[in-house]
Amino acid sequence: MPLLFHSTNGQSPAVNLREALLAGQAPDRGLYFPKQFPRFTFNELAAFSRLPYHEIAFRVLSKFTDGIVSPPELAKFCADAYNFPVPLEVVNFRTFLMRLDQGPTASFKDFAAQMMARLFGKFLREDNRQVTILTATSGDTGSAVAHAFHKIPGVRVIVLFPIAEVSESQRKLMTTLRDNIRTVAVDGKFDDCQAMVKRAFADADLKHIPLSSANSINIGRLLPQSVYYFYAASRVAQAGEPVVFSIPSGNFGDMMGAIVAREMGLPVRKIIAAVNDNDAFPKFLASGDYQKISPSRNSLSNAMNVGHASNLARLVSVYGGQMDETGKILQPPNLDAMRRDIFSSSISDERTVAGLRDFWNQFQLLLEPHGSVAWQGFQDWNAMEPLANSPAVIVETANPAKFPVEVQKVVGWEPDVPTNMLASLRLPEDFDRMDADYEKFKTYLIQKHA
Ligand SMILES: *Cc1c(COP(=O)(O)O)cnc(C)c1O
Repeated sequence: MPLLFHSTNGQSPAVNLREALLAGQAPDRGLYFPKQFPRFTFNELAAFSRLPYHEIAFRVLSKFTDGIVSPPELAKFCADAYNFPVPLEVVNFRTFLMRLDQGPTASFKDFAAQMMARLFGKFLREDNRQVTILTATSGDTGSAVAHAFHKIPGVRVIVLFPIAEVSESQRKLMTTLRDNIRTVAVDGKFDDCQAMVKRAFADADLKHIPLSSANSINIGRLLPQSVYYFYAASRVAQAGEPVVFSIPSGNFGDMMGAIVAREMGLPVRKIIAAVNDNDAFPKFLASGDYQKISPSRNSLSNAMNVGHASNLARLVSVYGGQMDETGKILQPPNLDAMRRDIFSSSISDERTVAGLRDFWNQFQLLLEPHGSVAWQGFQDWNAMEPLANSPAVIVETANPAKFPVEVQKVVGWEPDVPTNMLASLRLPEDFDRMDADYEKFKTYLIQKHA
């Protein structure tokens, strides 16, 4: 019996992983999530300390793919996708920095995108189907998705990005791929790109084009993000010993990965959801009143400029509540239980810069703005609850070289560009340009499909 995924809105039938992945969002506009998770035994978890990352990924993901992906095929996907290191650097005593920046686009989003692309490719092949994946990006998602789906048969990717809002390296990571990847530079803001993509999905005139999305609400992007928490715990903790995780959060997909790991039996002492000025979640956790932030606030940790985290619908469901896709709470979750498990703190840009500086001065370890938010969130928690002897893992979600200006301002030099990024930066670019005009985009889609 394959595991079933239910919609958080409760109005669509439950489906298996294959259908949930291909659909993205449930027909009732809810998000797919299991009601109950498969659990690891103590001995199964204890064995992880002797396994490489890709093998842990295989053991975690195989709990969801029973009857859908054969074990040898899944093992191959894991070995191919996770062929890069996952460094855990000692900060001090039992506090570690987990760097999720060694994938092809130097962002933690590679972990999810790489696996999702392989699963997508397999399911489409089996159905003899082709799709066009549309994504709007402010930088990191687009490059991770484009790299992951590059040369996957049956998939064409169209990425829209705001021309003036992405950095040069972010742009080059998308625009140098070619083949089945098209990039469109939009003369507008990220919100314009997202609005154009949303309209295309809803447009009856485009029904003949099989469109799909790879955005962060897809369950295929969430499950692989639980693996690195198992991995980190297996390296920094004794078997059965609870770990503190501090996670820089925007749409809360990364943080939900930690929740999934815990639901599957990983001992977790506290999950720290550190956010920037977009502080809807810490306010909700404190008061029980949820007010999304619209428009979202700009801050240095720009990949987390999210006014309403869609994954909160999943988090609320774990605690017995219900939140719809607009952020309205239909059934309040158990807030006391949530507060016991999760701490959340909002970090200003000023503190983000200070965190980067202090971390470098104290430990000679380099952060970028997102990792610095996680570090400061950890400090806030630690001021209220002493860490004592617990192991703690601070999650760094991007490579400092992706933020050369911010890092240079603080430490006085620009970080080296990792070799995984260098190749892209040297290749010639190729992208289309467009006004923020939906009718033009629609014509473009029809022409590209012909
Ligand atoms: C996307 C992103 C985040 C936020 O992750 P969520 O899953 O949306 O919370 C944090 N840091 C970086 C560098 C990112 O690209």
